[in-house]
Amino acid sequence: MFTDPDCIFCKIVAGTVPCFKLFEDGDTLAFMDINPVHDGHCLVIPKAHYPNVFEIAPEAFAAAARTAARVAKAVKESVKPDGLNLIQANGVGAGQSVEHFHLHVLPRRLNDGVAINWDPKPGDHAHIAEIAEIAARIRALL
Ligand code: AMP
Ligand code: ZN
Repeated sequence: MFTDPDCIFCKIVAGTVPCFKLFEDGDTLAFMDINPVHDGHCLVIPKAHYPNVFEIAPEAFAAAARTAARVAKAVKESVKPDGLNLIQANGVGAGQSVEHFHLHVLPRRLNDGVAINWDPKPGDHAHIAEIAEIAARIRALL
């Protein structure tokens, strides 16, 4: 499996950096985004390190998509958003800040004004305890 020792998401896969894990299977991992745009905002990654959609193996993309659909249903059920986006960025011009392929599972609220490239505001929306509590609610549905 491809891995990059300097990649934060590879470190999460390896367990050397903590996360609020929601789900994992052999090929993918789902965990809470540490700077959530809305309650329930989480990420789905392939466990192998692929920087972006241009380099990801088709089967890894398929596995991530399968997990994202499963997680999205749990987020919908637990957080009850008005809508939900799956978003995936490739390159700095697209707003990609972590170069390990990831799908954002992003719950939305009506008229929330969220643009495709939002500004991360650490700690602005949800505190760590809130993220943990929401993670437990989503996890219970997976
Ligand atoms: P992007 O800007 O599309 O590359 O998204 C990267 C996302 O990863 C951002 O929403 C960050 O908040 C999130 N993120 C970065 N580091 C961590 C981490 N250690 N744990 C959870 N989420 C993270
Ligand atoms: Zn990585």
